[in-house]
Amino acid sequence: MRFSTCYIPTLKESPSDAEVISHKLLLRAGMMRRLTSGVYIYLPLGLKVIDKISKIVREEMDAAGFQELLMPMVQPADLWKESGRWEHYGKELLRFKDRNGRECCLGPTHEEVITDMVRGEVRSYRQLPVRLYQIQTKFRDEIRPRFGLMRGREFIMKDAYSFDVDETAAEQSYKVMYDAYMRIFRRLGVAFRAVEADNGSIGGSFSHEFMVLADTGEDTVVFCDDCDYAANIERAQIGRPGVKTGRICSSCRNVPTSGVHTVDEVAAYLRVPSAKIVKTLILLADGKAVAALVRGDRELNEAKLKNLLKAQDIKLADAAVVEKLTCAPLGFAGPQGLNLPIYADQELESDTDYIAGGNAVDEHAMHLDLPRDARVTAYADLRNIAPDDPCPHCGGRISLKRGIEVGHVFMLGLKYSEAMHAAFLDEKGQERLMLMGCYGIGVSRIAAAAIEQNHDEHGIVFPPPLAPFDCVLLCLDPNNAEVAAAAETIYDFLRREGMDVLYDDREERPGVKFKDADLLGAPMQLIVGSKSLARRRVEYKDRRNGEKGEIALDDLESECRAWVCRVRDGWEAKA
Ligand code: ATP
Ligand code: MG
Repeated sequence: MRFSTCYIPTLKESPSDAEVISHKLLLRAGMMRRLTSGVYIYLPLGLKVIDKISKIVREEMDAAGFQELLMPMVQPADLWKESGRWEHYGKELLRFKDRNGRECCLGPTHEEVITDMVRGEVRSYRQLPVRLYQIQTKFRDEIRPRFGLMRGREFIMKDAYSFDVDETAAEQSYKVMYDAYMRIFRRLGVAFRAVEADNGSIGGSFSHEFMVLADTGEDTVVFCDDCDYAANIERAQIGRPGVKTGRICSSCRNVPTSGVHTVDEVAAYLRVPSAKIVKTLILLADGKAVAALVRGDRELNEAKLKNLLKAQDIKLADAAVVEKLTCAPLGFAGPQGLNLPIYADQELESDTDYIAGGNAVDEHAMHLDLPRDARVTAYADLRNIAPDDPCPHCGGRISLKRGIEVGHVFMLGLKYSEAMHAAFLDEKGQERLMLMGCYGIGVSRIAAAAIEQNHDEHGIVFPPPLAPFDCVLLCLDPNNAEVAAAAETIYDFLRREGMDVLYDDREERPGVKFKDADLLGAPMQLIVGSKSLARRRVEYKDRRNGEKGEIALDDLESECRAWVCRVRDGWEAKA
């Protein structure tokens, strides 16, 4: 492609509303533009990157025996009512009515549509398994769309679905997908890890997320330094309930704590470690209020609470609800005297003499003994694992890292086939429900995640498989006939070699060309200028490590070939 005729609107400055580097660089490199909150236009170069990702995904999905289809974006509400998700999906589901008043939604995912289609066609065990996928635009009205392509409202996803005769066959489909995902992410050239993920109320251990490790990730991943355990923090269980201290505690009473609010402030004010404070959180689980208790130095794990309560949806109650239930504004809740189900983290069971909110403004309760002073419904593992906890598998040291979820494989079991009655007749002519799995890849999110992992102060350093071009060919002096002719010859040669080349033939200053070439992130640059050309040489630069050198024009063919191989094969994802 000739730069002079391309639409590549690069920007000198980072747009001020972009928070993370991938968002900034995708805008600066002229790869995308924002239309409205969480909704982006993929400009030609951005689309090229998306297409490169999709191509790898497609090849591996096809090789794994999944067939591509394309389902509609608009879905009828009736199907969602059948599955029960019309009620539970919440505001992320964008709902509307058509001209006849029929309720519809934009697809955030396609379990309902595909289950409806398969149940209408498949009658016999002989027609199973069914394994299908699509690459398509999804819409989720995210509460906080941010970080550009990382968390959009409209985004591109590959979603796949499997339907099997029984659990063993379904596990086989799951494994086929897991292995395909390993190949896909390896080929994409990103540093990633497959980690155990929370699988909500479905149970079993059949859910893995594929995480690109990056500091800006919204997920926390738990790794063991001593074994190969890796899990999303939502999932990581804490084995040890703690040893009971057997201490005795004097009577619980409120003390004034004017002006102190946070756990740290209360701990400092009352001169106790934050581990002696009980944090009381009021939440709504499917609309019903519950209290959750964790130590002041711990974090509540909402996924664990949600699973314990078998709830579809869980969220923090707002200030008005908290005030009604605790008779105090936000920040002063304590479990004593609360008339709602109370779930306490198991760690709290081992000790006594805690401090909690006093259920009164500017007051905290001292000498709290949970069995004596509060009606705890159940003790359970309800908190996030922390660096001082042992590995749940081997007892070794764990560490926490940030990750970006780019893929998810999930064993659905009977969840949808039961609700929507997707059944078949087995060998004996008996009706049975199909076992399902679903498998997502965030195609557009991968573009952002790859940049989070691979960039420097000059711009993007794409993993070669994702780069919009293999090479940028810079003609530094297009008005010099000799230089221009040499650049044209090299351009033709590189294209004949099967390389995807951006030929910068613009009448711009060399500085502008160098900056743009670095920004766009193609792995290689070839620079044709009059000085080196006088010595029958062209310069090269490896974008990844900044290494520069010269190639003799006469050796161009062999050198370029070697160089192409080096760049294509010598790429290693950096962790
Ligand atoms: P998250 O926890 O990040 O919200 P999710 O669990 O809702 O993701 P899935 O329903 O498993 O996501 O969707 C499959 C994949 O689609 C995810 O692994 C992710 O890569 C991608 N994805 C999900 N939501 C978004 C979004 N808002 N913007 C871009 N990609 C997304
Ligand atoms: Mg997920």
